[in-house]
Amino acid sequence: MKNVTFSRVCEIFNNLESTASRNEMTSILSSFYKDLNKEDSQILSYLILGRVVPFFVNKEFNYSEKSFVSLLGDILKVGGRKENIGKKRNELGDIGDTLEYFVKELKYKSGGLFLEEIYEILWKIVKTYGTGSVEKKNGIIADTLKKLSPLEAKYFARIVCGSLRFGVNSKTLLDVFSFVVQGDKGIREELDRAYGAYADIGYICSLVVENTKEEVEKNLKGVRIEPGVPVLSRLVERVATFEEVFERLGDSVLVQSKYDGLRCQIHKYEKGELRHKESVWLKYLESEDNSSLFSSVENKYEVKLFTRNLEDVTEMFPEVVESAMAIDRDSFILDSEVLGWNSKIEKFLTFQETMQRRRKYDVKNMRESIPVKAMAFDILYLDSVDISEKDTEERVEILNTLSVGGAIDKDKTVEVKSVEELYEVFNRTVAKGHEGVIVKQKIGTYLPGVRNYEWIKLKKSMESKLVDSIDLVAVGYSFGSGRRSSLGVGAILGALYNEDNNTFEAICNVGTGFSDDQLKNTFKSFEGDIVKKKPNNVEVEKSLIPDVWVEPRIVFTVEADEISMKKGKRSLSLRFPRLIEWGRDKGITEATSVKELESMYEKQKKVEKSK
Ligand code: ATP
Repeated sequence: MKNVTFSRVCEIFNNLESTASRNEMTSILSSFYKDLNKEDSQILSYLILGRVVPFFVNKEFNYSEKSFVSLLGDILKVGGRKENIGKKRNELGDIGDTLEYFVKELKYKSGGLFLEEIYEILWKIVKTYGTGSVEKKNGIIADTLKKLSPLEAKYFARIVCGSLRFGVNSKTLLDVFSFVVQGDKGIREELDRAYGAYADIGYICSLVVENTKEEVEKNLKGVRIEPGVPVLSRLVERVATFEEVFERLGDSVLVQSKYDGLRCQIHKYEKGELRHKESVWLKYLESEDNSSLFSSVENKYEVKLFTRNLEDVTEMFPEVVESAMAIDRDSFILDSEVLGWNSKIEKFLTFQETMQRRRKYDVKNMRESIPVKAMAFDILYLDSVDISEKDTEERVEILNTLSVGGAIDKDKTVEVKSVEELYEVFNRTVAKGHEGVIVKQKIGTYLPGVRNYEWIKLKKSMESKLVDSIDLVAVGYSFGSGRRSSLGVGAILGALYNEDNNTFEAICNVGTGFSDDQLKNTFKSFEGDIVKKKPNNVEVEKSLIPDVWVEPRIVFTVEADEISMKKGKRSLSLRFPRLIEWGRDKGITEATSVKELESMYEKQKKVEKSK
């Protein structure tokens, strides 16, 4: 298949932008993917998600809109132009539209660059860092602009500034891939399984395009978990009562403490082991002089730590890396929760304290003041063998044989056979300061990214009416009145995820639970996300329309007094929602879904009845 031009890609981007229909987006993308070769389709998959690499590789453009405005001023070289460009940017509300507007004036001739060439240029920008990097990046971008049409310049600018947003996420792309193969969502399950085991969207894409249906099925079946590439985290269900645990899981269950920290997958493997060398991004990464995926420690082994959001956090927790290196095994993947640890009183720190370690700078000092422990609760891979398909009971036994130390520890999993016993273990665990327990069915494989009743959480908070906290996606905000108006934000509009059509349904405004400082910071965290009109993938009823729309990106946790049914309507709302935590370590599609809230509503009714 011939290589595609960047100009053709931009036409498709333009079509995507002008449709509000999710089905039409899938259809536009799937017919386009059908015409692409393996390499181009991988590149497109990353770009559409605003990246040049999968989520688990830390590579960013680090080029701001301000730099673009200033560069344009230099290129246009007319007195007072910079201010004009800044003004135009504010008027149009978007850096891409600004570029399109001014590049029209420059009358550059499009050089018909191929997507592959653009990808190479983007890598050059990503790889330029250190002193003088802004000037160097300016040089690369200015040269490129000369070869771009106004439309190409628009999307190029959005890619580099990280504001290319169509409301397309990995799940949308998996739908698209299914359509490429057979014109419907029929193979989504197989695609989900493969992506769950190997969370590199470009790689999964390469198994689909330019293949027959039979080949795709075979390819997807063959995808196995592999240290170095994150596995989607297994998720946990909630129930209304302790009795329900046994109704669902059988007579005998496994119980573990529920640690309240940061989900962390610990991967150890021999350097250079990563199999899929054909991945389009790997050749660029490997040719780097110093920071390759396989470097960092003078050692035969590599250790990587990933969050449930697929972010590489290896640099943040060096003590966990050292302890993983010290485990006398050649390769493994552990599922764990990282928590701050006070060794003097032998107690875990609060979630808020632990989160202070979630940063890339000053790690040495932070390591001293807030040391962490990774509490391993599952194992998916050991000494080159994928054990994720063994039953939970067996995996826990294998985990128990692993000799760990230092900053890696594991809790004792206990077997429980009655509600009374479960209450006892629960109370004992909560008395130790934990949030509750996780109950696991003995039989059942590790299902990546899946939430079902084989893993159930029982939390302290179950004593209230609402059976769990709720994770909302911020989709807008209102200015607020009185003193609050000076803080920039008065209340945040939160939305639930609707997995049926991949949209976000606004449900309520949250203005309680924020300190003034937090509100100010919230305002800052929206920088770059503010958009002029309602994003395509957001649904809202009139009464909730906010003063300002923001692109769905940030997930925040709230508690509420109860879930209520809106008067005269069939939709649900939250009564007195209040903020518990801003900026959760979660992707937007991992927020509480409409279906989950409906199921929580049913559980709430059960809890009410039982009281
Ligand atoms: P969600 O319901 O979306 O998973 P959440 O992030 O608020 O939301 P919690 O209610 O805290 O999740 O419960 C699930 C999380 O508990 C897991 O994602 C994991 O990070 C953590 N966890 C702590 N201990 C365990 C354990 N022993 N087994 C599994 N998960 C555990």
